[in-house]
Amino acid sequence: VTADLTADDRAYEAALRPRTLDELVGQERVREQLSLMLEAAVARGRTPDHVLLSGPPGLGKTTIAMIIAHQLSAPLRITSGPAIQHAGDLAAILSGVNEGDVLFIDEIHRMSRPAEELLYMAMEDFRVDVVVGKGPGATAIPLEIPPFTVVGATTRAGLLPGPLRDRFGFTGQLDYYATDELHRIVQRSAGLLELDVTDDGGREIASRSRGTPRIANRLLRRVRDFAEVRADGVISEEVAHDALALYEVDDLGLDRLDRAVLSALCDGFGGGPVGVATLAVAVGEERETVEELAEPFLVRLGFLARTPRGRVATAAAWRHLGLTPPAADQL
Ligand code: ADP
Repeated sequence: VTADLTADDRAYEAALRPRTLDELVGQERVREQLSLMLEAAVARGRTPDHVLLSGPPGLGKTTIAMIIAHQLSAPLRITSGPAIQHAGDLAAILSGVNEGDVLFIDEIHRMSRPAEELLYMAMEDFRVDVVVGKGPGATAIPLEIPPFTVVGATTRAGLLPGPLRDRFGFTGQLDYYATDELHRIVQRSAGLLELDVTDDGGREIASRSRGTPRIANRLLRRVRDFAEVRADGVISEEVAHDALALYEVDDLGLDRLDRAVLSALCDGFGGGPVGVATLAVAVGEERETVEELAEPFLVRLGFLARTPRGRVATAAAWRHLGLTPPAADQL
């Protein structure tokens, strides 16, 4: 179970995505701030400030971008940092932008440097110089862009260069969701899917969802399979419990990757400190996967600390794995 999106998830997610700020569960502060900003922009008949949304995968960044376009009755154009490797890729997108459009750039921290520079000029001046050709023959062709709104999403706001970050008039930091909020999301999804989920069943799923709506919805789908095939279709606490045990999601919501990282850290490296690159090799994953998917949640649970010398397991992590933490003077 990861928070990354698989092709299989897309149609399912589209059906469950909240369409308005009112339907969005949790994130009260971001929701209220955005609602005010959007209402003011609509009243003034102006395009709103550019919006930067940051936070781990699956917390609602894409959903909020879609809601922003919806509230503005504006078309949404969707692209992503990895798709914009050359300034020309971005110039092509910008030349197609119409007044009032919302341009959503997912993983905005993964754009190339030259594209970033072009983007922040476009965001500031609504005008860029597109350089055509190379060397002495190169010419700059000015491109006027009508006022539009960029909604950028990033898992790590700290990776964005300062000048680009400064172009966003609004920054929303999305946080992991409380179990109660995830419970509401599970019940809402169950309603849309016409599933029979008891209150305790819903809570069981919510409490194992790693604070992440995408995971809550995905676990609900797995539990539904189990309920239909192995039980009477009703998602009770027991059904949810058995289904999630089958899918190796533990009582705190840690999945196989999370536990692999923790046990590599404790068993393989005596609790650390160990560099994240080494840790990633030990669990057979990309460094980014470990850094962006597993670590933020392990840090939040107080199981892992990021120190200048590397990653360190806390005593709580050892205990969660059923191991005895080393004596304090050895940590
Ligand atoms: P991100 O872009 O941050 O990776 P998404 O916006 O794609 O995350 O959200 C993943 C899924 O989780 C969506 O399809 C949506 O159904 C659900 N979701 C996210 N945030 C919320 C929320 N606040 N309330 C209800 N459902 C949510």
